[in-house]
Amino acid sequence: MSASNVAWVGARGARTFALAVIQGDVAGARAIAARRSACLNCDARTRARAPGASEPSDWCGDPFVETETSCGCLLAGKIAVASEECPRRIWLAVRRARGRWARRVTLLAEQMMNTQLKEATDGD
Ligand code: SF4
Repeated sequence: MSASNVAWVGARGARTFALAVIQGDVAGARAIAARRSACLNCDARTRARAPGASEPSDWCGDPFVETETSCGCLLAGKIAVASEECPRRIWLAVRRARGRWARRVTLLAEQMMNTQLKEATDGD
């Protein structure tokens, strides 16, 4: 998993995707690559910084804004979730991945969520 894929878990608004992955809703590596490629070539894709994030990320339309043709989702998170679908139906939901890949992605999401939780509680 690339550094940008790891970064999505730390961005606010990506918690839903991280939780979905932790619960086993993980797309396979090939599906993720195909979705990433489709999104990279889509005119709905925007580059923007999530609140609190230091680096910009790719989004489907404006961040957190849902329209008929874009969902406002952080793309690195959305494409990793098996049940997610493109609002333009350029790509659809896929079956959940199993095996080593799914365990690896799930573990990464868990680690990122634990880090977020630790940072939040350390700030108390
Ligand atoms: S999810 Fe669909 S509409 Fe959004 S950027 Fe990707 S391909 Fe485009």
